[in-house]
Amino acid sequence: MSQQKLQLFNTLGRTLEPFNTIESSKVGLYACGPTVYDYAHAGNLRTYLFVDVLRRALELNGYDVNHVMNITDVGHLVSDADTGEDKMEKGARKQNKSAWEIAKYFEDAFLDDLNSLNIAKPSIICRATEHIQEQIEFVRELEQKGFTYQTSDGVYFDSAKLPDYGKLAKLDREGLEAGIRVEMAEKKSPTDFALWKFSGDTPRQMEWESPWGVGFPGWHIECSAMAEKYLGEVFDIHVGGEDHIPVHHTNEIAQCQAKNGHVQANYWLHGFFLQVNKEKISKSGTSLRLDALIKKGYDPLAYRYLVLTSHYRSHLSFTWESLDAAQTALKRLKTKVSALPEGGKVDQTFIERFISLINNDLAMPQAIALMWELLGSALNDGDKKATARYFDRMFGLELDKVEEVEIPREILELVELRLQMKKQKEYKQADEIRQKVTELGYSINDVGDSSTVSKQG
Ligand code: AMP
Ligand code: ZN
Repeated sequence: MSQQKLQLFNTLGRTLEPFNTIESSKVGLYACGPTVYDYAHAGNLRTYLFVDVLRRALELNGYDVNHVMNITDVGHLVSDADTGEDKMEKGARKQNKSAWEIAKYFEDAFLDDLNSLNIAKPSIICRATEHIQEQIEFVRELEQKGFTYQTSDGVYFDSAKLPDYGKLAKLDREGLEAGIRVEMAEKKSPTDFALWKFSGDTPRQMEWESPWGVGFPGWHIECSAMAEKYLGEVFDIHVGGEDHIPVHHTNEIAQCQAKNGHVQANYWLHGFFLQVNKEKISKSGTSLRLDALIKKGYDPLAYRYLVLTSHYRSHLSFTWESLDAAQTALKRLKTKVSALPEGGKVDQTFIERFISLINNDLAMPQAIALMWELLGSALNDGDKKATARYFDRMFGLELDKVEEVEIPREILELVELRLQMKKQKEYKQADEIRQKVTELGYSINDVGDSSTVSKQG
């Protein structure tokens, strides 16, 4: 087969690059996880759908993926400039629960959302609060190498010590410094960031002893420390949403480069935002949760379909009309694919075209269009089914899964009674029972000596 090799757009360098791994058939993938102080919104979930598509594409190319995702359950402050309250402590106050309780509650809710969207669970899920020692060690090494300084409220990374600080976002550190309008507090430069914050006078639920004083880790250090623990000093891919480019990932790169002398991951990929009326969605402001969509009668996989119809590097504007259209399209696809007969084989020409699209930086909208082309093509029905099923390994839309309807016990008992009547040759009673079952909305099909029952469509 002569399909195209996988190419991905690397934010570091801003080009489409052929994908090459460190170890031939293995991929180390780190995805920045959610901050669990509230429910995830549809925008957050778009980013995890993108990660899922990426992972499936890697698997389709034969790679064995070690997928690590963190849970930010401490240290993410309300402002990216290292000021303001910890989102967890604020969430706890709002909900009148402990920070530990809300972390667990919203982590579970997030994992349920992943499940509803058919997003594969990461191989390793790691919580920031369970890796405090690793983070302290990381900061200590940075300190020993001369990259830190202390203020009255914490230990900071000294970005001036790293000549190419900001290369991911192409940040102009000097320009930023000249026009200092960013919150600075006691920081020497606006691009410096907290590695360890002191609890100070504010009582906190989450705090730990450290060589510098009681406090909690900064947000960026958790990802670098845990990624290194589970994937090593250098691994293949680091992903997150586009908002991570100028601050979180820039700072992750800086601290790893300072400690280890090189960038932590070879490829940095970013999913673009979902917007509502061109506005940013946020957990606290304009919010849109998956369970709200489900309550309105949408299949969560209709949202998955909608996300697949846009490329991960373009903004997606959410509208109810587009979700309606996605739900209709998904239903039609499922009906068509599940009605096709078994026993065919995959069509190599379609597969080759499909993989070339996937490998062209995950061109999912075109891959979805190819699915429709396949179903409308002159290919025989059995081969169509086998090929559609292959495509669905990427889509994850469960296209040939027929809805299973639970049959009430009362109906099952009637079916059983009818069989007994038939055995005893009481055909009149048997017919009456069939009539009753039909009136209750179910159909009986006799297969030899037994019967099957299904809900009338
Ligand atoms: P958070 O829970 O805020 O830490 O965010 C979890 C993930 O969702 C991060 O990778 C963010 O970059 C991403 N994210 C936040 N808002 C959006 C949005 N509107 N659209 C897509 N991704 C988002
Ligand atoms: Zn991260």
